[in-house]
Amino acid sequence: MILVLNKNVSVDQKEQLKKTLKNHGYIVKEIQGVDETIIGVVGQIKEDMRYFETLPGVSKVLPVSKPYKLVSRDLHPEPSKIRIGDVVIGGDRLVVIAGPCSVENRATTLEIARRVKQSGAVLFRGGAFKPRTSPYSFQGLGEEGLKILSEVREETGMGIVTEITSPAQADLMMKYVDVVQVGARNMQNFELLRCVGRLGKPVLLKRGLAATIEEWLMAAEYILSEGNDKVILCERGIRTFERYTRNTLDLTAVPVIKKLTHLPVIVDPSHATGIRDKVLPMARAAVAAGADGIMVEVHTEPERALSDGPQSLYPEQFEQLMRDLHVIAPVVGKQVDFDYLPKAKYFAASTPSDATLVVYAGVPGSFSYKAALQYFGESAPMENVATFRQVFESVATGKARWGIIPLENSLTGSIHTNYDLLMEYNLFIAGELTLRVVHSLIGYEGTNIEDIKIVYSHPQVFEQCAEFLSQHPEWDLVACKDTATAVTRVQERGDRSRAAIASAEAARLFGMTTIKEGIETHPQNFTRFVVITKEPLQNGPKDKSSIIFSVSDRPGALYEVLKVLAENQINMVKLESRPIHGKPWEYMFYADLEVDLDREDMKHIMKEISERTEFFRYIGSYRQGSRVVS
Ligand code: PEP
Ligand code: MN
Repeated sequence: MILVLNKNVSVDQKEQLKKTLKNHGYIVKEIQGVDETIIGVVGQIKEDMRYFETLPGVSKVLPVSKPYKLVSRDLHPEPSKIRIGDVVIGGDRLVVIAGPCSVENRATTLEIARRVKQSGAVLFRGGAFKPRTSPYSFQGLGEEGLKILSEVREETGMGIVTEITSPAQADLMMKYVDVVQVGARNMQNFELLRCVGRLGKPVLLKRGLAATIEEWLMAAEYILSEGNDKVILCERGIRTFERYTRNTLDLTAVPVIKKLTHLPVIVDPSHATGIRDKVLPMARAAVAAGADGIMVEVHTEPERALSDGPQSLYPEQFEQLMRDLHVIAPVVGKQVDFDYLPKAKYFAASTPSDATLVVYAGVPGSFSYKAALQYFGESAPMENVATFRQVFESVATGKARWGIIPLENSLTGSIHTNYDLLMEYNLFIAGELTLRVVHSLIGYEGTNIEDIKIVYSHPQVFEQCAEFLSQHPEWDLVACKDTATAVTRVQERGDRSRAAIASAEAARLFGMTTIKEGIETHPQNFTRFVVITKEPLQNGPKDKSSIIFSVSDRPGALYEVLKVLAENQINMVKLESRPIHGKPWEYMFYADLEVDLDREDMKHIMKEISERTEFFRYIGSYRQGSRVVS
């Protein structure tokens, strides 16, 4: 049951109310919405509905008709993000769990771990207690296996996911494991569910072989009802009449689950298909369907694996899969971050504790905010400022360690202000990220397109939606600092003649409605963001560099510079010219090169270029956002 509180409810009243409900034996959850507070009351309801209506501070009582309560989105409208060390499941970065079906021996397990980590896995899987169909099959190494898994965590930094098959293993799980997996065969082992609920560690709950989505969610409800809300659901295929594949992967479960519950959902295409060459296409499909991550079995010698060899990927296949996912993820608003774990370590070590880690221009809900979240992760301390100049200023003065700014858009070209600011400030580029930008027309619920008179957004966004806007020449277009601010402008006016163009996420964040999604002129609308910092990035791997230079006014001057690149087989991926302020008709060139100019054996190139230019500045080497390097 949900209690909607009065808008002016006092803190004391709220606390009193929660106390009263707890005294009645209910589980009480407070949820702070955009403009209202609700309290979820879970348990066997003994009183009449009218009793709750009369409690001080309560404005409305809504029954939750579904049998699951704590896992339901009604009680928790925002998606849950589950933290496992530096990894967050349910956020903007895709989480990939990989490893063998079972831990077989130390050497093979460590070798598999090294390989999957190198390709971008952030959590490691491996069974030490195996629920096998036959009592004569390999049953797992038990505690010895858990010790090997601990060694994997120590060496690679990947958190460990392993299956619990009996409450008797609870102490071992507490000692060795980061995520406790409840296998498909145990999904309705209610004693085990209560046990992992009490453990309090994140739980990966597989869908049962013949479980309906509702039964699966009820199993999750068991865990949450014990006070553990760190549950990750895992679709792993269900039994159907189809025998060509081991199971039938129910991918529709992903969007269904996303609607019904706030819990994150991942997909295991290995057990779902049982056949190696079916794993890649289904993993790609899972990401496209909106899964928060995938879990796949990988083995260096699958033909000799003690369990599930036929469905285990070779490390090379896994690497290929990760490259594919890297390309697919931005389409559904996510990122595969190949530097996920090293980044977390590097950022933690390099940030003075009193400085803000990241600064961006705009407000939460803007595209810069999304880029910052995707690049730096959910837990990075962030601050927002109003302008791009303030981002540069914060980084230059040391107030913030990193800044993130958009540099160019695939539909509308360069963001000139930021090119000029790169010239003005002596900062370096340390990374880049490509974000797919989908624009939506946003307004109040019930707004008809015909009623709209004024539309707010960022001027660049109007350009990106030029084709759609040309169908409505009567609209007044009002420029705002960023897209999320545009949504707040509409929200505060409260009338249906105004709309904003922003991301669908901004609409959700500010409690507004999407009137039309995908109004950008071309679906391939990407913005490239770069990360700026005070000192050049030391740690590798890096494969791209940016420079700024000007050449003298004589024939062949620019050609001389380009010749250095050609002779050294360096690919130039971007060349931009900007007018030099105060020197009419003279230009500064900005070039992006596919090379790490910081490498000892490449430093001569910088020297050669600077000898052929009037002005030369190196602004950093970093890892390309669109390319995988190993
Ligand atoms: C496993 O992940 O190793 C496993 C046994 O999976 P499931 O419970 O989905 O069969
Ligand atoms: Mn398996």
